[in-house]
Amino acid sequence: MAPHALLIPLPAQGHVNPMMQLAWKLVSHGFLLTFLNSDTNHNRILTANTPNSFIHDNIRMISVPVEIPLMDTPEGIENGIELLAKDMGPSVIDRVIQEINAREEENKVTCIIADVWMCFGLQALGILHSDGIPKENKKTKYLPSMPALHSGDLPWLWAGEYMFRKGIRMGEEIKPIKWVLFNSFLEIEAPVVETLSKEVGVYPIGPLIPPEFLHSRTTTKVLPSFWKNDTGCLQWLHKQCADSVIYISFGSLAVLSEKQLEELALGVEATRRPFLWVVRSDLMKGSQAVLPAGFLDRVRDRGCIVSWAPQLEVLSHPSIACFVTHCGWNSVQESITMGVPMLCWPYFADQFLNRTYVVDVWKLGLPLNANSQGMIEQEEFVKGVEILLESEQGLEIREGARKLKIIARDAVKDGGSSSNNFNLFVTAMKRQLN
Ligand code: UDP
Repeated sequence: MAPHALLIPLPAQGHVNPMMQLAWKLVSHGFLLTFLNSDTNHNRILTANTPNSFIHDNIRMISVPVEIPLMDTPEGIENGIELLAKDMGPSVIDRVIQEINAREEENKVTCIIADVWMCFGLQALGILHSDGIPKENKKTKYLPSMPALHSGDLPWLWAGEYMFRKGIRMGEEIKPIKWVLFNSFLEIEAPVVETLSKEVGVYPIGPLIPPEFLHSRTTTKVLPSFWKNDTGCLQWLHKQCADSVIYISFGSLAVLSEKQLEELALGVEATRRPFLWVVRSDLMKGSQAVLPAGFLDRVRDRGCIVSWAPQLEVLSHPSIACFVTHCGWNSVQESITMGVPMLCWPYFADQFLNRTYVVDVWKLGLPLNANSQGMIEQEEFVKGVEILLESEQGLEIREGARKLKIIARDAVKDGGSSSNNFNLFVTAMKRQLN
């Protein structure tokens, strides 16, 4: 009998992707998998992708009806989590498991792998709990093993009191769980993993990147994206010089104001460098994204704009020089694994914290700083690109990115720290069947 895992990602692109990467890994170790989506995401995935590009015989895709609002504001997060707790809560999961088990007499569900949203910083949550939410934006060292953090950069502060309480509860809830798998690797977070390990069984198994992407650029695997991948940009990248292209993408949820979008476009233009920019149709707050008049004509010979890119393939392309990123955790892990230095433009949630790590701890990128009105001006953008790609400081960052790329890949190779953790998990899940 094979272990049969029910995989439950949070219904958002940035959570579905790493869970699918984990699914591919588990399938190659003899698991049978059932992948649970919300109906909406399930349909979007089937519409946007060729099914056999991500579905495997041993991965069953199922879905349940749940309609969550856009979780990009504190209110949206609160409503979304409450709805999820109702529509994808324990009673729904129980029912789903019963249905699977009734269908698959021989292959009943033997383990559940669920997304634990924001489970980082358990002790920090405990410490904060006693003091309440810090009101002023001061820099504090929450754990001896973490760098000092601006309290305003903490994810639970961005999302307010509700998320703060929720974070504390989640920290408590995961304590009895035996296997807490992290999409990260020991070599970049050893002090934090060590501290957390005193409280819970933490197992970094990342970066969760399919092996095909680590060894070659030709792969038939595609992440189950909610938007249709524009693969034409890869042909465009093939025509560009090595280390020349600025890749700009803000992930699946971040939005920019009309003014900010315009300012960024002018900054991109002013760099006079080739660029690949993901402009999702909903990238502009409130309406269909529009670029400044004449922009497309002016940059036609050196720019490529798509509404959704095959990001792993893009980042592993030799023409990419740097990644202007919102610092979503997947984007950061993917950039590290491909050795691409970053310009950090966080939008919300954990992204400010991730920026601190990218810039101050791992030294893999530079921040793009907003002015007093919260805008990143075109001059700041150009300056960031120039420092990263032309200066001594930039050279050190780029060399650091190349070195960490090797360390990240070693972590998931046979005998590497993440590979060992993953094997421990697989062995334990198989052993419990006997
Ligand atoms: N992504 C992609 N194409 C794009 C933009 C993003 O495939 O044009 C993928 C990216 O590779 C990553 C995910 O979408 O796996 C975004 O996750 P992340 O945590 O970076 O950001 P979020 O969308 O959760 O804010």
